[in-house]
Amino acid sequence: MSASRAAPDAARPTDAGAPDASWHPDTIAVRSAVPRTAYGEHSDALFLTSSFVQQDAQSAAARFAGDEDGFIYSRFSNPTVASMEQRLAALEGMECALATASGMGAITLLMLGLLRSGDHVVCSRSVFGATLKLVGEVFGKFGVETSFVSQTDLSEWKAALRPGRTRLLFAETPSNPLAEVCDIAALAALAHDCDALLVVDNCFCSPALQRPAEFGADLVMHSGTKFLDGQGRTLAGALCGARELLEQRLLPVQRSAGISLSPFNAWVVLKGLETLGVRMQAQSQRALELARWLQQQPAVARVHYPGLPEHPQHALAMKQQSGQGGAVLSFEVAAASPQQARERAFALIDATRLCSITANFGDTRTTITHPASTSHGRLSDAQRAAAGIGQGLIRIGVGLEHPADLQADLARGLSPRA
Ligand SMILES: *Cc1c(COP(=O)(O)O)cnc(C)c1O
Repeated sequence: MSASRAAPDAARPTDAGAPDASWHPDTIAVRSAVPRTAYGEHSDALFLTSSFVQQDAQSAAARFAGDEDGFIYSRFSNPTVASMEQRLAALEGMECALATASGMGAITLLMLGLLRSGDHVVCSRSVFGATLKLVGEVFGKFGVETSFVSQTDLSEWKAALRPGRTRLLFAETPSNPLAEVCDIAALAALAHDCDALLVVDNCFCSPALQRPAEFGADLVMHSGTKFLDGQGRTLAGALCGARELLEQRLLPVQRSAGISLSPFNAWVVLKGLETLGVRMQAQSQRALELARWLQQQPAVARVHYPGLPEHPQHALAMKQQSGQGGAVLSFEVAAASPQQARERAFALIDATRLCSITANFGDTRTTITHPASTSHGRLSDAQRAAAGIGQGLIRIGVGLEHPADLQADLARGLSPRA
């Protein structure tokens, strides 16, 4: 046994963690964390405590006044949450992150913190359903006006800008369920031309595939519920961005509004981040294989997946997404009418035994849904038609099962209809 192993250097057990500028994402994902405790635990500690004991009245006063760093109360901050924030920010290549109770909590915090009545937002029409409702309806009640525009047509974004009033551009790429890709660099340029900020919801790719800051995005929003946890266990969210913006403008609102992440959920995500890179690679490869296989099935009319050369924004997706298509795809079953399409889609979903019929994705287990009757079920027929979501559309969140088993599972519902 070497001397250093027999008698660990007193400085070492606690010094691991602060991300080093030279580290690659693989290293950040498993090593970046707050310092170890005096016990030298190897796995990240879970601090299930609502408050922190102060040394004496004087230092309590200093911490509350913000004159001294230190933990006070878990609505403000907590070491486990801080580790998750540090690791995620480093993976996104951004200075800072604030963890929130869910992805929607992150958008709520963003808008509460940065907007006031009379401000204007430009948002893609293809963002997550709850985002459309929150941004358009809930914040609309407080006088924040939003223009919804095409995911892919830059001229619509440009025409919607109102210099002096537009504060935020909000995009999600690739979109759900049709996997349409928007050009992050072009949107960042538009935003910056009118002194607005570009926010990108990076749930679908995660920082393992796409780092929006590299293309000029000012803020990155996450639902940790998806790939960051990666095993379908917990709700979580985060905003990543410049330290000053987050700490000066958003943290005070978070402390007051209580949109904080529980330490337990932060710990689950923190451990999930350790395997994010290998999961995203493996799940993307499986998704590409499945997309190619689906393309060859006579019962399938169309496959939507950015990793396929036929995808309309394939080249842009490959540039933005580290050459990977991601792990979510959708496809349309061939049918002569919307009624027949719905029957065939339901029959295919019901014939699966392996895929889970659930609206979530980003799990190690493959999920299958019928967007027209679930996530997009509340839209009118006209709205659904405008969004391109037909009755024959099926979305798959590809997990880690063997591709042959997934193909066999889907083939059961496809083959009789060829
Ligand atoms: C799930 C999801 C959200 C919302 O996240 P929650 O953690 O469920 O609140 C936002 N955006 C996208 C793209 C999502 O998939």
